Amino acid sequence: MSVVCSLYVPYNDNMQLIDKLAILADAAKYDASCASSGTDQRDSKNGKGIGSSGGMGICHSYTPDGRCVSLLKILLTNFCIYECSYCVNRASSQVKRARFTVDEVVKLTIEFYKRNYIEGLFLSSGIIKNEDYTMEQISLIAKKLRTEHDFRGYIHLKTIPDASPELLAEAGKYADRLSINVEMPTAQSLQQFAPEKSPLGIKKSMARLKSGIAEAKAHKRQKKTISNQRIKSHIKFAPAGQSTQMIVGADQSNDRIILIQSNQLYNNFKMRRVYYSAFSPIPDASQALPLIAPPLMREHRLYQADWLLRFYGFEVDEITPLNSTSDGMLDLHIDPKLSWAINHREFFPINLNKASLEHILRIPGIGAMSARRIINMRRYSRIRLIDLQKMRVAIKKVKPFIETSDYHPQARLLEKDNLRGYFIPPEQQQLAF
Ligand code: SF4
Repeated sequence: MSVVCSLYVPYNDNMQLIDKLAILADAAKYDASCASSGTDQRDSKNGKGIGSSGGMGICHSYTPDGRCVSLLKILLTNFCIYECSYCVNRASSQVKRARFTVDEVVKLTIEFYKRNYIEGLFLSSGIIKNEDYTMEQISLIAKKLRTEHDFRGYIHLKTIPDASPELLAEAGKYADRLSINVEMPTAQSLQQFAPEKSPLGIKKSMARLKSGIAEAKAHKRQKKTISNQRIKSHIKFAPAGQSTQMIVGADQSNDRIILIQSNQLYNNFKMRRVYYSAFSPIPDASQALPLIAPPLMREHRLYQADWLLRFYGFEVDEITPLNSTSDGMLDLHIDPKLSWAINHREFFPINLNKASLEHILRIPGIGAMSARRIINMRRYSRIRLIDLQKMRVAIKKVKPFIETSDYHPQARLLEKDNLRGYFIPPEQQQLAF
């Protein structure tokens, strides 16, 4: 459902704005990178300003296909001078075009916020005239919201990679989060499908954002040390960090290549998130693009694998091994941690009363929070199966892999030839073979 379908538009005298909103909210739906988290805490409880943005991130809801809709998620325009072949807004596309003015976006954001429809703004744009002009317009919207309306809600701006560094710096002053889409898993694919975009330019801009964010954080820490007081003002630069998005399934890259790219983005540019967006076939598309979308489950498995890399101590080589029997793809029927465990049974069973946190994190069905609870709990008592039940751990899933004070796994379960089959529901097994 697009934003416009579910909201009352507060401009009865201007149907044109409604039409623009219908087009530009719909055009923004292809961007998956709209979750908000980890920004500075702001509010307007003292009667000053409009909106709030909690330290844990604003509340947001998701449509059934996982897209976030609590932000006003729009494009400034879907006109574009570029010709990225995977994009419905490319210059040669026959889609209906629209363009907001800066003041229209500001007004919509404030009006929607006051009506409690949204908690912030997610703004992206096609490239109009040139990169700098587009970036200037995007920044100006954020600036006006913050300085003229004292808007304290969340702002996520998609930045234009080839815009000048000064304009990126300006955007960082007003936005909570900045993002630049890496678009494709490899530089070769980017050159093939988006010839006007430069892989080097994208990386240079990501590096600039990384430095701006690090500098602002260092300044905040330094001021805290000096004054030992709550800081009222400090250099502001995208406190919720930077994120990016990669299209999955438009090119031939397998999951291993995608995860290697993500890992580099996290390590080199301190990304807060890499979002994976399953390619959607578009009208009059290039023949080099697939005719059907990849299964949404592929996107889901990539998110699970991404989580394992960031929070569970896994390496890409463990999740998608480089060997002659692997095609570099994640198993669509079971999650990547379970898949790793089935292929590394020598690592199990793990004794929950003795194992390190690092090892417990490797048990399928035990999340990071439960792993920490187990470590805390065993300071006072020995871990039993019922303790896991109380933590709502999926017992069927963990049983082959653990040992507790009252449970020792049946060796035959772990040694089962078809252990993978034990976890796949029968109807999925039929689909799998
Ligand atoms: S620059 Fe962005 S909006 Fe323009 S064609 Fe490429 S992906 Fe689409």
